[in-house]
Amino acid sequence: MSKSPLKLHSGDRLVLATHNAGKLAEFQELFEPFGLELVSAGELGLPEPDETGTTFVENARIKAHSAAKGSGMMALADDSGLCVDALGGKPGVYTANWAGPNKDFSIGMRRVEDALQAANATSPSQRHGSFNATLCLALPDGSDAVYEGVINGTLVWPPRGKKGFGFDPVFMPEGYDITFGEMPPEQKHSWSPGKVGLSHRAKAFAKFVEAALERD
Ligand code: IMP
Repeated sequence: MSKSPLKLHSGDRLVLATHNAGKLAEFQELFEPFGLELVSAGELGLPEPDETGTTFVENARIKAHSAAKGSGMMALADDSGLCVDALGGKPGVYTANWAGPNKDFSIGMRRVEDALQAANATSPSQRHGSFNATLCLALPDGSDAVYEGVINGTLVWPPRGKKGFGFDPVFMPEGYDITFGEMPPEQKHSWSPGKVGLSHRAKAFAKFVEAALERD
């Protein structure tokens, strides 16, 4: 694993190695200023590899290398999830699984809440958690680079807001009194030169930009 000889320039093609529509939309917005030609793993008909890793880094690398190898192009993958202190860091890398086979996040959010109640975590200080994002940029030759971002916050109940995706309606980032589900997308994950966005994904993206993206 190396810290960039990997560089991208305006006009380069990049595979976004995700089949998650919410992540894809956020990446498309984040990449807007850079003039890259983005294509998703879904559009290319690439299979979704099994996420057999036990860490965000392992799973991000599995997804990025699978897409880079399958497409013959540079690929960027994101592995992310919610880690809740009172649950010993769960659901962690298994966050998507907690939403069940139909990826119904109202079920996933309810499951986290039930687990918090079972752990007697009722006050805000007992309901601390973080969203974590690991980005992996991989080349078809097997080289890669990894960038990580974290946002701390509190789990709230009931869910609030219809913006964002996944567990956004139950996550209130530190220093805010609204959830990610109530926050306009540009506030949640915006990136601009010299400014680091709020979300885990935006923070990881800022590191990726610094190391791997050339602005013209
Ligand atoms: P994976 O990285 O595809 O394994 O899935 C991570 C899961 O974590 C997603 O399906 C979402 O449920 C959740 N997740 C990751 N990032 C966010 C976010 O920004 N907001 C809400 N949920 C998220």
